[in-house]
Amino acid sequence: MVFKSIFPYTLETIAAYEVMSKATVEQYLNNSAKAFKHWRRTTFAQRSALMERVADILIARRDEYAALITNEMGKVLKESKAEVEKCAACCRYYAANAEAFLKDIPQPSDAANSYVTFEPTGAILAIMPWNFPFWQVFRFAAPYIMAGNVALLKHAPNVCGTALAIERIFTEAGFPEGVFQTLIIDTDVVEDIINHDIVQGITLTGSELAGSSVGALAGKAIKKSVLELGGSDAVIVLEDADMQKAAQVATMSRMQNAGQSCIAAKRFITVGKAGDAFAHAVQQEISQLKQGDPFNAATTTGPMARADLAAKLDQQFRTSITKGAHLVTGGHVSGCNFTPALLTNVQEGMPAFDEEIFGPVASIIQASTEAQAIQLANDSRYGLAAAVWSADIQKAEALAKEVEAGAVFINALVKSDTRYPFGGIKKSGYGRELSYFGIHEFMNIKTIYIG
Ligand code: NAP
Repeated sequence: MVFKSIFPYTLETIAAYEVMSKATVEQYLNNSAKAFKHWRRTTFAQRSALMERVADILIARRDEYAALITNEMGKVLKESKAEVEKCAACCRYYAANAEAFLKDIPQPSDAANSYVTFEPTGAILAIMPWNFPFWQVFRFAAPYIMAGNVALLKHAPNVCGTALAIERIFTEAGFPEGVFQTLIIDTDVVEDIINHDIVQGITLTGSELAGSSVGALAGKAIKKSVLELGGSDAVIVLEDADMQKAAQVATMSRMQNAGQSCIAAKRFITVGKAGDAFAHAVQQEISQLKQGDPFNAATTTGPMARADLAAKLDQQFRTSITKGAHLVTGGHVSGCNFTPALLTNVQEGMPAFDEEIFGPVASIIQASTEAQAIQLANDSRYGLAAAVWSADIQKAEALAKEVEAGAVFINALVKSDTRYPFGGIKKSGYGRELSYFGIHEFMNIKTIYIG
């Protein structure tokens, strides 16, 4: 069995990768076990030096890795380059901060001395999606490896070239064999891997369906999991918002990466009189986008990553129109290419409101009051992130506290940033990645009590 890498813009097959045998997977798990014994005892200084080298390699070969990303999943080259740079910054951040984040915490009690210490637990299996094929990997690997754990990656089958390139980066940086390994496997062997003794944590970024299956397997094996799943983020635009800026940022949030981002603005909710002005400004923004070849510098919106994803989007889009959404612009589909689209009059009961729309379709929903806007924002199975736009910061902050989400950004683009915790509530998953919080997810938080 082989996994193929296909350039989505032309649907040309660019590479094929053989799936690993069970014996090879067993060998990799044994490598992890061997590596963990030593890696857990290395000092932070030793780990930091190697992690800094990973960052150096990423920067030195940025263009090569960016081309690989664009070839395998179709994002525009400029965005691929920025993704590689962001990974390097994440490595440097944890190289600099891991020791402080994992310092013992004194815990005054009735003991002569008592404190909390953090110990690594083993191999962390990461099951990752194709949409940010470098970033999703580095945001788990940098903190967990700095913490003394070892990493096993099962990437999405359409980005095997990326998955293997990342493994080579860790090897070239000088990490001992087994600290970071890529498994080229199908989902049917995931349960055996989760059950293996060396695997002590599972982190999955992907769809709700995948999260539910993998979370259940982890639970059955009594192993901790972190789930980073889908989202249907609201952008709430109040009447006093800067309409041009709000429209520009919301459109960028929705359309970058061809709309295939978990924290993309997926439901634009306008309050009262904001509706018409905002819709007009968004239409203007979308009219400036150019869908096409992701290697062409003039292209703003590349193809979607796979033809089946474009077909699914098309179905959600057409059904929403049948149910009463107004098509303002866009929505032409050919293979993986889907032109950026705008729907207005979107309401509950339409896929564009009820489901995650994972592609370049912006949806405008009208609310009469701020209270109704909050109710609509929260009327979603997901709770990943959201944005509020208003000139009145106090009011925006008060509204932000009412939104059911893992993050709310006011008058700004929602983004993942190594310095802030990232993750959701409701069907968007559980646990947190990044920042101080992310590095603690798979640690043994151990009490030491001296009587
Ligand atoms: P997906 O189909 O769920 O795939 C993600 C990964 O999970 C792939 O490696 C996939 O492998 C694997 N997988 C799927 N079912 C599995 C199972 N039963 N057992 C083990 N592994 C399984 O997701 P996608 O369509 O590629 O990615 C888009 C989704 O990810 C969207 O919902 C998006 O919002 C979400 N996402 C969330 C975040 C976040 O941080 N919250 C970030 C990015 C993306 P196979 O392809 O081999 O099945």
